[in-house]
Amino acid sequence: MIKPSDRLHELKDLLNEYSYSYHVLDRPSVSDAVYDSLFQELKQLEATHPDLIMTDSPTQRVGNELKGGFQKVTHSSRMLSLNDVFDRSEVEAWVVRMDKALPGKKHEFFADIKMDGLACALIYQDGVFVQAVTRGDSYIGEDVTANVRTIKNVPLRLRSKEGYEFLLEGRTEIRGEIVMLKKDFDALNDRQAKAGKPLFANPRNLAAGTIRQLDPKLVSERPLSFRAYDILRQSNDDIPTNMFAYEALSAIGVSRNQQASVFTELNDVMMFVDEWDAKRHDLPFNTDGLVIKLNDRQQFSALGVVGKQPRAAVAYKYAAEQATTIVKDIVISLGRTGAATPVAVFDPVVVAGTTVQHASLHNADEIARLDVRVGDTVVIFKAGDIIPQVESVVKELRRDNTKPFDYEQALKQQYPELQFERQAGEAVYRVKGATGELLLKKGLEHYASRSALDIDTLGEKNVTALVDAGLVKDLADIYALTIEQVLALDRFAAISARKLIDAIHDKRQPALERFVYGLGIRHVGTQTAIDLTKTFPSLELLRDATMDQLLAINGVGKVVAESIVAWFSDEDNQSMLDKFGRLGVKPLMTKTSRDLDGIAIVVTGSLESLSRDEVAELVRQKGGTFQSSVGKDTTYLVSGGKVGASKLAKANKYGTQIIDEAALLKLLGK
Ligand code: NAD
Repeated sequence: MIKPSDRLHELKDLLNEYSYSYHVLDRPSVSDAVYDSLFQELKQLEATHPDLIMTDSPTQRVGNELKGGFQKVTHSSRMLSLNDVFDRSEVEAWVVRMDKALPGKKHEFFADIKMDGLACALIYQDGVFVQAVTRGDSYIGEDVTANVRTIKNVPLRLRSKEGYEFLLEGRTEIRGEIVMLKKDFDALNDRQAKAGKPLFANPRNLAAGTIRQLDPKLVSERPLSFRAYDILRQSNDDIPTNMFAYEALSAIGVSRNQQASVFTELNDVMMFVDEWDAKRHDLPFNTDGLVIKLNDRQQFSALGVVGKQPRAAVAYKYAAEQATTIVKDIVISLGRTGAATPVAVFDPVVVAGTTVQHASLHNADEIARLDVRVGDTVVIFKAGDIIPQVESVVKELRRDNTKPFDYEQALKQQYPELQFERQAGEAVYRVKGATGELLLKKGLEHYASRSALDIDTLGEKNVTALVDAGLVKDLADIYALTIEQVLALDRFAAISARKLIDAIHDKRQPALERFVYGLGIRHVGTQTAIDLTKTFPSLELLRDATMDQLLAINGVGKVVAESIVAWFSDEDNQSMLDKFGRLGVKPLMTKTSRDLDGIAIVVTGSLESLSRDEVAELVRQKGGTFQSSVGKDTTYLVSGGKVGASKLAKANKYGTQIIDEAALLKLLGK
């Protein structure tokens, strides 16, 4: 475990480094998604440990130090940044915060597309452009007037329009974003490529780098555009709402986004969010989300500023395809064919809109290539619907005490009784001597066995016949078998074929714990299956169980939890589970009475009325635990005859009550 204070320090320093490359050098060293992900982690750490917040934390400031070479200008009011939100619940929480600060006020929302460029303030005196200032550190910016003058859509004189003449009197400050349109960026990069020059990384940093060029001639060769989002006047009353500001911008001839809209209902804001999530790639410039603010400017200023962000606005960030997280473990899953696949298990993280908590590392070579280690901070990547991948390791955040992952050692540790081999030229280790068919036969026999699905006609011989004929390729396939297919095999006649199919179909709604046991997950015996399904009463819930949730279950330790996570992370297993669903197999949670909840029972000797298996089944049905030997949590030792000395001693030691068969039957309600 990393100490929060250490992590906090390391994140702070690294983010400041990234920020320097991004803001000062205009040469980002990581993607914005990676920066944002680490930034969120730092913010959360600071929220839980406010005493550890340092003044040089990137959460405490806007932008970065100034580069020099330009005149410094103090802003008329701070140029702030915005608080990020990532989903509807965070937007709702923001509204609740505003309600608390301004009780009884009805909100009207104003939403616009957030441009990914650099912020700039244009100052007009009596309608004439006099100065352009970058955001800088939010208080002081750089005078980039000469460069901004080259931007063709920045009016050198504001237009006069009826009703808006006052904006041409005195000082009018117009704030907005300088962007490079995607088409201009592509054309510029094409020219670079043709000239054999290095390509630019992205339009945002190119725009920022260009505007801070000391040579305006060079700037004029790079097509930049300006889009406004704010007007500031000496008197706040001049501009009552943000929508009014936008209308005024158009009236006086300043470009602004036409998509900006006003909403009274949060639901409609969210529909706007979704609409632009789908259409954002068609916009002429890059965007990473929307800006949502209160429309009423009086309310806006009444809500004030918290830290470096106004309380009355948020930036809604669209799902990024990258995020960072910490690798908690690397486990190895055994696939259907006996192939051993390493899987990275990490703290659950949202990537491209879904929560992921494990990713295949494919094979030992890939682990070595990435040099991914337990405890590392990694970048997870997920494009569209594609399966999440570990893209890289954030080496700067690596702890000193981590060791390279020893694959063979891990195989030995996780599967001590198995031997593995790696054929020449193959990247994958496989169980020695095991073929896919052999493992499938064993798996199917286990699935059909008495304690699992209890399909009595599906014994060893029938399993062999079905697998050898290629009719069954995984457990789920048995539900797709037809009479005709089975009849075509030597072993079957009309009656036996019908019996087999009926017996299989009878088990389309097995008890969930039997089904889970039947899947043959290593270390998941009947009792563990029951324990699991008590906490996760459906297959869907169990599929998504996190390592921490599993470890919280009594009786589930690290080895078991790892094995479960590894099993569910296997792509073949996932598609098999989907297939079960498609074929109508719906495991159900059995309605157990809870009479024996928390009670553990051991039987010694033989009983007259019930077999040991029957007792076990009945105990479990009532929510109790059936154990094979007396331990510290055993409630009752049922004696079928005389109790041996060692059992007696243990029972005494652990305070286990010794009862007879009659008392047991009473407990079981017989
Ligand atoms: P922010 O995300 O806090 O957004 C606030 C800014 O959005 C405003 O100042 C304004 O300029 C702009 N904006 C764009 N469209 C707008 C609109 N329609 N209405 C109002 N405002 C609008 O931005 P920030 O404080 O400039 O910087 C944080 C960003 O910088 C993050 O996205 C982060 O990923 C990036 N960053 C990246 C790295 C890296 O290494 N990749 C390093 C540092 C920062």
